[in-house]
Amino acid sequence: MMVEERQWTRRHFLSVSSTALVAGLFFPRVAGARSQATGMRELRRNVGIFTARGGTIGWLIDPSGIAVVDSQYAQTAPQALAGIRERSQRRIDVLINTHHHGDHTGGNGVLRDITEHIVAQRRVVELQRAAAGERADELTYADTLFDRDWTLSVGDETITARHYMPAHTGGDCTVLFERAEIVHMGDLVFNRAWPFIDRDGGASVRGWIAALEAIASEHPARTLYVFGHVGVGAPVTGSRAEVLLQRDLLSGALDIAQRAMSAGRSREEVVAIDAIPGFPDHTSISARLNAGATIGAAYDELSSDTSDPKG
Ligand SMILES: [Zn+2]
Repeated sequence: MMVEERQWTRRHFLSVSSTALVAGLFFPRVAGARSQATGMRELRRNVGIFTARGGTIGWLIDPSGIAVVDSQYAQTAPQALAGIRERSQRRIDVLINTHHHGDHTGGNGVLRDITEHIVAQRRVVELQRAAAGERADELTYADTLFDRDWTLSVGDETITARHYMPAHTGGDCTVLFERAEIVHMGDLVFNRAWPFIDRDGGASVRGWIAALEAIASEHPARTLYVFGHVGVGAPVTGSRAEVLLQRDLLSGALDIAQRAMSAGRSREEVVAIDAIPGFPDHTSISARLNAGATIGAAYDELSSDTSDPKG
């Protein structure tokens, strides 16, 4: 019941957002209102975000170049592009996919013809193809792949995509805007929302915990983080505290799963657990994501023990 209410709230929120988007197309705009209508928000130093549906898009729009992080869906990417075009008519120098999921790569085809390069971690294309199955040939893929790091200078900004280890998927990366001190986390943080742990796509709970540790320790405390997904009412950006909150949630799930295994409890019993102590304000962004599913993924990882956090 609680879940249904939350889902209704989210659908309601989304429909209100869509109405606002449509209104933005037909009503005269004033500065400020215009950006809100298109879902565009600048954070600092020409770096900003676009939110509509699916994973949060990041952007750098500089007089000498444009970089985009993730492309949401084919249905929402045109709105993101319209927002970019309000600020610049340039071609896009680079589109970085933080991982292969369709709500982060589905808009690749919309941006392909006006983008020089689509960049992703080495495993992204293979995972994207595998997840798409028969539809694999219809999708648009990264043309430039990297193992650990990939860097580009745009204007006075330096952008670095970095893969740590298997975490949310087997091919995640973060994207650092060095001078703005902003890190786009892809789906390495579901801010106050139950996370999706894509075991079929190479995820590792232990790897995810280690990646978050590394990320939190290698960026200064004033760094601003952009989150792929958020719970009801939770902010899309935050600090190291949210990065570590995600780590603690995953550690909590792993701990519960470990104790359940030691006590000989079944998977069925584990996925029926409806809370992780210390995380009362997490909400569900999808019917299949909840406390039990989070603990269940940790339980499966421990059971199979094929996941290597050192990746
Ligand atoms: Zn994802």
